[in-house]
Amino acid sequence: MIATDPAFRAALDGLELIDHPVQLRQRSRDFYWYSPILKRELDGKAADLIAVPRSIDEVVRVAAACARFGVPLVVRGGATGNYGQMVPLQGGVLLDMARLDRTLWIERGRGRFEAGVRLEAADTLAQQSGWELRMFPSTRRQATVGGYVSGGAAGVGSIRYGQLRDSGSVLALKVVTCEETPRLVELRGPDIGKALHAYGTTGVVVEVELPLAPAYPWVEMVAAFEDFTAAAHFAQTLAESDGLFLKLDSLMAWPLPSYFRGLDDGVLPEGRHVIMIMVAVGGEAGVAALAAEHNGTITLQRAYREERGHTPLYEYTWNHTTLQALKIDKTVTYLQTIFPPDSNVEALIASHEMFGAEVMAHAEFQRRLGRTNCSSLQVVRYTSDERLWEIVRQMDTLGIRLSNPHSYILEDKGARVPSADMQLAFKREADPLGLLNPGKMSRWTAA
Ligand SMILES: Cc1cc2nc3c(=O)[nH]c(=O)nc-3n(C[C@H](O)[C@H](O)[C@H](O)COP(=O)(O)OP(=O)(O)OC[C@H]3O[C@@H](n4cnc5c(N)ncnc54)[C@H](O)[C@@H]3O)c2cc1C
Repeated sequence: MIATDPAFRAALDGLELIDHPVQLRQRSRDFYWYSPILKRELDGKAADLIAVPRSIDEVVRVAAACARFGVPLVVRGGATGNYGQMVPLQGGVLLDMARLDRTLWIERGRGRFEAGVRLEAADTLAQQSGWELRMFPSTRRQATVGGYVSGGAAGVGSIRYGQLRDSGSVLALKVVTCEETPRLVELRGPDIGKALHAYGTTGVVVEVELPLAPAYPWVEMVAAFEDFTAAAHFAQTLAESDGLFLKLDSLMAWPLPSYFRGLDDGVLPEGRHVIMIMVAVGGEAGVAALAAEHNGTITLQRAYREERGHTPLYEYTWNHTTLQALKIDKTVTYLQTIFPPDSNVEALIASHEMFGAEVMAHAEFQRRLGRTNCSSLQVVRYTSDERLWEIVRQMDTLGIRLSNPHSYILEDKGARVPSADMQLAFKREADPLGLLNPGKMSRWTAA
């Protein structure tokens, strides 16, 4: 096994290395087990060695040694990806970014962070000078800045600031190439697409520069509805209400709320569909009036706060919705879908009527390609692979397209062709031996 070869180890002399089999197994996993299909494919896969760099120089040393000895190199951020993105398919070195965690600077609406900074730390530090992250995944407390730009897509804040892929959502990435003499490349403007959402297949991201948003005091609210159609129209109308400054607008059909624990009695009434909302302080009355117009009731209104032991509302939303359901029922799984622009509400209502409680509707309202739309992480009562794909086919007839969460292949997530082509071209320069996260980019494997 080359990663444990004495000559290879000597090349990494002085670095923090871990080779205990239990640690190798545990740290080589993410949340792929949401999917019964990925569980079958990925259980048991692990790195041969973990390296924990403390500086960019140490990252360069690891990349150089991997290139010289032909060893696969996979980067690990917070390991909260949910498609096995960071699971090493061919062993090799797992580069754990946890100690590359310095915030370099925050000033006038921008911040620059080493890749291993946790999003929670980045957001908290920014808030101290009146700014905050424009968006974060619901894994804010565990995920890293580098992991988010390499594996994430959107999240809490996307209702106002759109997607990570949107021009301007990321200002710069510094990446280390995987060559015998690695290079440091600063990517800006359209070049950011070479490494953004590339699962670390085109370079190791060591620094990330992000635009920041003015920090607001946020209020968390829950609106409950008897009628699903009314709930869906409320969520869309709320999202389009320009006077209300939103950070979160998430719809969950009953019985999804029955899986949620930790909220006070009465917040999630039996049989009701709910919308979970974060609105800038001052917007509460506007939200309540809109809910009343749609025959909804406000069942929660409280200040947003971060405290150990306290679950913020966003930890019931985005992909935490699936996690909350899985905590109670291990047999459910999920889908990840994109809705047709301009008829998203109609498609959402039609899919709820088509599948009922077999596919529990869950929609995250957001800005997408210049419009207010929703994407969905539906929680599915899993019976068989065949039935799962049949559901996908039926959804397709409603214009609801799959972004396949049961695959670890980069291009199966609906990657836009121009950025996929750009990533393949950059990989030829930055990773000529194909050592970075091998097996994840199908274009490279095919080429
Ligand atoms: C409960 C739950 C909720 C989630 N909610 C959201 C959400 O709201 N929005 C969203 O977009 N995603 C969400 N996700 C997916 C995931 O949390 C995000 O993609 C997250 O940002 C990943 O960050 P991480 O640090 O954990 O990265 P990891 O899981 O460690 O890595 C993700 C990918 O990026 C690569 N990578 C990591 N760091 C680097 C680096 N420095 N350089 C190069 N490559 C790197 C890894 O190899 C892997 O391919 C959720 C997942 C779970 C389990």
